[in-house]
Amino acid sequence: MSRLASLAAVGFELSALTVGELESRSPIDGRLLGRVARVSRADYDAAVARSAEAFRSWRAVPAPRRGELVRLFGEAVRRHKPALAELITLEVGKIGSEAAGEVQEVIDICDFAVGLSRQLYGLTIASERKHHHMLERWQPLGTVGIITAFNFPMAVWCWNAALALVCGNALLWKPSEKTPLTALALHRVLESVIRDFTDAPAGLSALLHGDRPVGEWLAEDTRVPLISATGSTRMGRDVGVKVAGRFGRTLLELGGNNAMIITPSAREDLAVRAITFAAAGTAGQRCTTLRRLYVHESRYAAILARLKRAYASLRVGSPQGADTLVGPLIDRAAFEAMQAALASAKAAGGIVHHGERINVEGMSGGYYVRPALVELASPIEASLKETFAPILYVFRYASIDEAIAANNAVTQGLSSSLITQDLSEAELFLSAEGSDCGIANINIGPSGAEIGGAFGGEKETGGGREAGSDSWKAYMRRQTQTVNYSATLPLAQGVKFDIE
Ligand code: NAD
Repeated sequence: MSRLASLAAVGFELSALTVGELESRSPIDGRLLGRVARVSRADYDAAVARSAEAFRSWRAVPAPRRGELVRLFGEAVRRHKPALAELITLEVGKIGSEAAGEVQEVIDICDFAVGLSRQLYGLTIASERKHHHMLERWQPLGTVGIITAFNFPMAVWCWNAALALVCGNALLWKPSEKTPLTALALHRVLESVIRDFTDAPAGLSALLHGDRPVGEWLAEDTRVPLISATGSTRMGRDVGVKVAGRFGRTLLELGGNNAMIITPSAREDLAVRAITFAAAGTAGQRCTTLRRLYVHESRYAAILARLKRAYASLRVGSPQGADTLVGPLIDRAAFEAMQAALASAKAAGGIVHHGERINVEGMSGGYYVRPALVELASPIEASLKETFAPILYVFRYASIDEAIAANNAVTQGLSSSLITQDLSEAELFLSAEGSDCGIANINIGPSGAEIGGAFGGEKETGGGREAGSDSWKAYMRRQTQTVNYSATLPLAQGVKFDIE
């Protein structure tokens, strides 16, 4: 357990990690990190009841005061940043700078939410009736159920949690069964802040460890008005239907199949760096990872040659190594899915470069791969779906219209990017006739979003928006209010209803 000093640093009793059936294994070498107990149905029901009770008092706490709780949480996360980042590296396999970047996102969204807590603004609306006024006000919603994926085990929860808290809601968090310890550590930090905060009720936030059934309980639970679920499209299809069936609300953040277009005027160095980070960074395990590359035919040979060289020299290894750029895949299933996709691409006529397993000394239990490039003449089944591993399908194109159509010709719609020095091409890509994705970038890759913008995607990515801009509205109940300050009762639309 000495590797988990980072958990001890946030006040966790390490001996508690020896009980429970849910195992956490490090993707670095497959070693057991600890065990936690799955929540029982009875524990779950008790947590939902406590959270309903907590909501009743939290909604009446002034929003700026709720923001103060989030400010203190952000400060505590700042203090524990190195320990929390180390834990992400251990449990998810992210390299040091990416793990620290994820904790930074937690801090950034807290800062954003604190400012927001002094806004949560509505509208005043002109009334057609004399001496009346209309308002649009945003009210707290209730308990927010947050289901998260393994690959952003802290940031995604906090994008939801920080906003939901300042909006006056209680929280239930069902983290990925692959990352229980990162969830435990971050939630422990919030629990200690809640404990010391006079206005925060016990039960304001609960952590619910478990696998899929716990997510299903949340999806079916009429006591939870909003389910924010991040993960695969398969999961979202299930959760979306269940929550809609009970007229609940969903905020879905699902799989992506993101593309980049390299135009004739693209700066080559910038393009190669953008491609390599977006496609191979985080070992291809971001929802915004670059998976399809469209290169103009005039640049294809040169860009491909540069990419092959860059890929051959990528430093793959333990994420704890200072020079490592590509850490391990999360588990054996991810490795097998990658190899199956590469085999099917080869069978369909694709030219596969790299993608092989790499033996890292002393880490035989980890699944390390050299990221793969696959040259294709046209789309194949594998390139139309998201394989959560570092595979980049490379196509050539002749016209910008053809490239934009190809960018949009998949069922997912998360992120997209175009590399160009040509203003007309850039503006076309960003126009109504351009990219159909939730995110469209020029001269950067599709990954690495900042929290100030609304994050999310269209089509099978689920349509949800989290983090910045006005995403907070998803966590509140919109209420239209009309006030009559006259002594008479005129009816709208000139309706008459005079009684004796
Ligand atoms: P996953 O779908 O296997 O699991 C995600 C979460 O959903 C886990 O907590 C899991 O227990 C739960 N779950 C699974 N099936 C469920 C069901 N039927 N009902 C309720 N809960 C259920 O995803 P993963 O492998 O952990 O993560 C990778 C996926 O997440 C990729 O598809 C990636 O693109 C996506 N992702 C999307 C975003 C985004 O913002 N769009 C961000 C991160 C990850």
